[in-house]
Amino acid sequence: LDRKVRQNNWEENNFINYKKMSENLSIVRSRLNRPLTFAEKILYSHLDDPHNQEIERGKSYLKLRPDRVACQDATAQMAILQFMSAGMDSVANPTTVHCDHLIEAQVGGAKDLERAISINKEVYDFLSSACAKYNIGFWRPGSGIIHQIILENYAFPGGLLIGTDSHTPNGGGLGMAAIGVGGADAVDVMANLPWELKAPKVLGVKLTGQMSGWTAPKDIILKVADILTVKGGTGYIVEYHGPGVEGISATGMGTICNMGAEIGATTSLFPFNDRMYDYLAATKRKDIGDFARSYAAELREDQGAEYDQLIEINLSELEPHINGPFTPDLATPISKFSQAVKENNWPEELKVGLIGSCTNSSYEDMSRAASIARDALDHGLKSKAVFTVTPGSEQIRATIERDGQLKTFEEFGGIVLANACGPCIGQWDRRDVKKGEANSILSSYNRNFTGRNDGNPATHSFVTSPDLVVALSIAGTLHFNPLKDKLVGKDGKEFMLKPPTGDGLPVKGYDAGQNTYQAPPKERANVQVQVSPTSDRLQILEPFAPWDGKDAKNVPILIKAKGKTTTDHISMAGPWLKYRGHLDNISNNMLIGAINEANNEANKVQNFTTGEWDAVPAVARDYKKKGVKWVVIGDWNYGEGSSREHAALEPRHLGGLAIITRSFARIHETNLKKQGMLPLTFADPADYDRIKPDDRIDLPCTKLAVGEPLIMTVHPKEGEPFDVKLQHTFNEAQIEWFKNGSALNTMAKKSKN
Ligand code: SF4
Repeated sequence: LDRKVRQNNWEENNFINYKKMSENLSIVRSRLNRPLTFAEKILYSHLDDPHNQEIERGKSYLKLRPDRVACQDATAQMAILQFMSAGMDSVANPTTVHCDHLIEAQVGGAKDLERAISINKEVYDFLSSACAKYNIGFWRPGSGIIHQIILENYAFPGGLLIGTDSHTPNGGGLGMAAIGVGGADAVDVMANLPWELKAPKVLGVKLTGQMSGWTAPKDIILKVADILTVKGGTGYIVEYHGPGVEGISATGMGTICNMGAEIGATTSLFPFNDRMYDYLAATKRKDIGDFARSYAAELREDQGAEYDQLIEINLSELEPHINGPFTPDLATPISKFSQAVKENNWPEELKVGLIGSCTNSSYEDMSRAASIARDALDHGLKSKAVFTVTPGSEQIRATIERDGQLKTFEEFGGIVLANACGPCIGQWDRRDVKKGEANSILSSYNRNFTGRNDGNPATHSFVTSPDLVVALSIAGTLHFNPLKDKLVGKDGKEFMLKPPTGDGLPVKGYDAGQNTYQAPPKERANVQVQVSPTSDRLQILEPFAPWDGKDAKNVPILIKAKGKTTTDHISMAGPWLKYRGHLDNISNNMLIGAINEANNEANKVQNFTTGEWDAVPAVARDYKKKGVKWVVIGDWNYGEGSSREHAALEPRHLGGLAIITRSFARIHETNLKKQGMLPLTFADPADYDRIKPDDRIDLPCTKLAVGEPLIMTVHPKEGEPFDVKLQHTFNEAQIEWFKNGSALNTMAKKSKN
């Protein structure tokens, strides 16, 4: 294990450290003394402190040292802006940024890409220059979708990757624990803080038998989603194992892991095997495959490893499935689908078939899909539905162009879109139906929530394998089942489509296509990060001011929020996402969804300095201007929802001091601490009711100490002041974050000393 094997072909100095991983694992093994699952092995071999880390599945918080970070262009903006404010001159861990989310599908690949580059110029210029400055690999627009690029270039067996996108688990196709996180977590790892994860439970999926005919890897995850539902994987890593695994290609395993995000799983994983070795060799990483073989015993579960839950699927009996509409866990086997369409009154005509995306655009997927299209063409048929192809990467696009599949799709009537997310994330200028018109579309994507693809809530979006997308597109109806129904060829004769066939890997090797990668330059000191001072989409973040060292006296309550206050109430998405790289502009959405107890209304609070009622952000800005700190009073589970870091950045930016609640969603609580805010909870939750929106409070910040409650004094508008006991979960290091103004300020201070 002493060998020096590079993590990938792009970075000279980043190596796979199986030796260190194996050492960490022996420490943990001697402590736990029981067989381990593969998921546990990866996590425990990346522990920051394997000797002392408390380890209990489903309970402890693990402090981990990931091997890599990956960000897509929408989430990368704020992550990098935050990282910059730490004043470090390079990321501490290997990081890449991928331009894929901002490219709208309209007419086809080249033109759409050109338009996106012009519309998003300032974002791309910022990302490209910041990546060059801070030693980050930059994948330009047109390079492909983050998860496909990671699988083709960066994933390696046994590695730990965090990515600022929910489908990061795609890397599990190469035996990597690849986990989707929020931007704040990515910033931690870029700045060399350990990354915290609640030790997941492990859910085993045992695969037996073998797939054949029309059944594809996608059907495995469609079936798993059926069994577990959209919530069933929450808090678990899903670990596939059993003899059925051997028959699935590495990219097929990637598909299964990718869509594991739809059951809420932390990530999904396959053990290292020969199929992964073949894929590594085909993508010019044979040395990694050989190295993994020398560490293979630790790249799978131990014999006798116990799962917290176990399900079994016999692949020989698995039917092709179609899931949807509106939710990815509503699974119907193809044999019952036509009937389900009738019973539920789903629109029968198939308007659009879409293949590709990060979930299903491997060489194997494209070859199988093309074999069906070719079969139809040989009978004089084309796609009846509008048909689109989204290659997952430039490498896939170039390879299927060279090998003829792309031409087949074009003959079939297909529109080849840019190598990007496009219609999967609503970047689709769809014109064939009107908004509000009920219609059906079928894709090989992963997510099909209402309105996701085209913003039309009446679109019935179904997900399935690329094979079924093509077959049903030929028929143009949801009633077609290629396993038993016939089509009529141009010659008037009936025929049945042949089951799909196709190579898993290209016989002639992959064609890299156009060069879309920008490596960080050797000399980075003079690189200027490009942000226009007049931009409304991007703004350089100044480090937050350190704590003034004083107790807070007579502080107003900006809002006493009543009931559910999720990250969406605190920092709304939708049109605001445009400003996610501009903290001041996006702060105009701060808490506008929260309900004010004083009037039961959203976004209307009283400014105590003027007596006027105004929008929440406007009042906060006025306080900030007048040098008045403020607090928020919140209800149960404040900040639940996503890990959106803006929900913590905005109150800090607008001058907030503390958020005092009955309880917090843990990630939001940590995010607030990271930004230098004080998340506090009522020792007695009933005290929430004693506080009125127009009370003032004193907070003895100088008394903040580990494990000690804080006694807050409340000054009601009328009546005597009273004391309320508050709890907190700050540890020593986090108290430093508060004192220094943020976790990043603390890191910056350390790196300068
Ligand atoms: Fe996310 Fe879809 Fe893009 Fe994949 S293709 S990264 S699921 S938006």
